[in-house]
Amino acid sequence: MDFHLLSADPKQVQSPVGTCISCLCILLFNLMAKEIVIRRISKMIQLGSVTVGGSAPIRVQSMTKTDTRNPRATIEQIHELEECGCEIIRCAVPDMEAAQALKVIKKWVRIPLVADIHFDYRLALTALESGVDGLRLNPGNISDPEKVAAVVKAAQERLVPIRIGVNFGSLPKDLNPRLSIPQQMTEAAMRHIRILEDLNFDLIKVSLKAFDVPTTVQAYQEIAGKIPYPLHIGITESGTPRQGMIRSAAGIGILLYQGLGDTLRVSLTGHPRDEVYAAYEILKSLNLREHGPSLVSCPTCGRTEVDLVPLAGAVEQYLTKIKKPLKVAVMGCVVNGPGEARDADIGVACGKGKAVLFKKGQPLRTIEESDILSELMREIDNL
Ligand code: SF4
Repeated sequence: MDFHLLSADPKQVQSPVGTCISCLCILLFNLMAKEIVIRRISKMIQLGSVTVGGSAPIRVQSMTKTDTRNPRATIEQIHELEECGCEIIRCAVPDMEAAQALKVIKKWVRIPLVADIHFDYRLALTALESGVDGLRLNPGNISDPEKVAAVVKAAQERLVPIRIGVNFGSLPKDLNPRLSIPQQMTEAAMRHIRILEDLNFDLIKVSLKAFDVPTTVQAYQEIAGKIPYPLHIGITESGTPRQGMIRSAAGIGILLYQGLGDTLRVSLTGHPRDEVYAAYEILKSLNLREHGPSLVSCPTCGRTEVDLVPLAGAVEQYLTKIKKPLKVAVMGCVVNGPGEARDADIGVACGKGKAVLFKKGQPLRTIEESDILSELMREIDNL
């Protein structure tokens, strides 16, 4: 498997790992300083206007929860997700009416549209004719090789990538039972990949998802060195937002920190805006992407002398309106508060009934507790 260095700054993307001693020393130093992730080198593919893999930023995607046969509702949801920063959107295509609706949906959305299709090659052909930018389709699930060839030919003509998606819950029955589950998942994916490669098609993305985090991580580790294609990562059916965000953060976080993953979806039983929100928080936590503001707030303790919990909640709510990447700190005391507040673009370190307001590392002024929120909002707006 080949790797790139991935800078904490997403704009400064990878240069190949050097072989000279000084490069290795720099690499080791940076690793020790936890400043970089070494990212697996993958083939770059294009979904509409968005590049996935290679040196492209790790892309955030989601799936609509509306009925695709209702274009108005689906378009409205995609617009909301575009506003949140979603970069690729996928729609389920259960029947021909849904496949035909893609043409209208495609016309009204800006981000690349992926059609999620199982078994029926006619749905794939209609989706391609509707102008979709990607297919999620397992060719091995279409029994007739001529039908597979027709879909692949249509995708090739339009340069539309196909994602092969293997889920633990739907593994073929004839896999070697001596193989571990991650190995079986990899073998299932390789079967689909070979079908596409035999048809000279290489605009491929691959996902191997399970509910279980160790299984998912091992499956991606297993396949990463066997194929050059970009990896779509995620933990499938991870649950409601409360459980699912934590489970996804654990699984996706491990993979990303190991350099695996070119695009990701956080699958939640909830509104897809939460999926996009969670995806960016995971990427931001690993310094892999910048996206909107970050709030640093202390957990509070016996030293806290202001009502910090509602204050932090109100600041967090206010920040949802801000698009710019900035760091805001809301700290409860003068012990740890000033350090974090100084490190932020704007921050407060609170004391008894008062707080010191910091901007870009400099103390600005002391403010009354009742004015903390309004003063913070004013300074955020000024930034
Ligand atoms: S910053 Fe101060 S108040 Fe907040 S948790 Fe730490 S010690 Fe307690």
